[in-house]
Amino acid sequence: VPDDYTPGTDELSGKTLLVTGAGDGIGRAAALAYARHGAEVLLLGRTEKKLEAVYDAIISEGLREPGIIPLDLATANEDQYRELAQQLSGTFDKLDGLLHNAGLLGDRRSMAQTSLQLWHQVMQANVNATQMLTQVLFPLLEQAPSASVVMTSSGVGRKGRAFWGAYAVSKFAVEGMMQVWADEMGDTSRIRFNSLNPGAVNTAMRRTAYPAEPPTNNPDPETLMRGWIYLMSDASAAVNGQALSAQ
Ligand code: NDP
Repeated sequence: VPDDYTPGTDELSGKTLLVTGAGDGIGRAAALAYARHGAEVLLLGRTEKKLEAVYDAIISEGLREPGIIPLDLATANEDQYRELAQQLSGTFDKLDGLLHNAGLLGDRRSMAQTSLQLWHQVMQANVNATQMLTQVLFPLLEQAPSASVVMTSSGVGRKGRAFWGAYAVSKFAVEGMMQVWADEMGDTSRIRFNSLNPGAVNTAMRRTAYPAEPPTNNPDPETLMRGWIYLMSDASAAVNGQALSAQ
């Protein structure tokens, strides 16, 4: 993210942006930040109550009314993805951005001890759901003058680390998926694909992964949103196939 990038208040106006895992943590902060910069936000997540709370927060600030999409990415089947795409294309004529943020940590165990069941769940939520959602929403992304797909990575998705198991492997897959999509689009494409590594952020996931760490060691997601806004803004229109870091 360029050092001199400062988003304007109307940076994202006119854009419709879908955020997965929008009910908590980084996704919640990104959805709020996008709404505060003028976007219409579609909040996708598995816990409807949390999505409603984010909806209320956006409305109470007098921002554009968001949409709510309850969906469990770990269990959704192909029909549910197609249905979702059909519903969205009946309501919106384009989608300007897709933030794949929802993620499952799984279990912090050695590879030898990893449960196969959890392995499948993590791959389903972090990898397969990302591909399926991107694929079904692709026609709607193609309707936007300049669309951005952001895949959320991790430090352990760029360099493997002991005891990060399926999660680390899933994030490597996310980086690969981003590269293949980006390469297919080419540099002149109107749809760009990039990955973003948040770095350590004070969320429920971080606190679960590092139970002994004081939460105040890491920044709150709300304080970090420059990179997330940049990737959805036209300022990054020429950026494709890049692995970026937020911190
Ligand atoms: P949180 O666990 O705080 O939030 C994750 C969000 O994703 C929650 O709203 C959760 O919903 C949702 N979610 C999880 N599984 C599903 C599912 N199956 N279907 C739909 N929604 C789901 O995590 P973070 O905010 O910390 O993480 C966001 C992203 O950033 C993840 O991809 C993570 O891997 C990545 N990341 C985070 C880092 C950090 O330090 N926090 C560091 C590096 C990467 P619910 O609230 O209902 O559980």
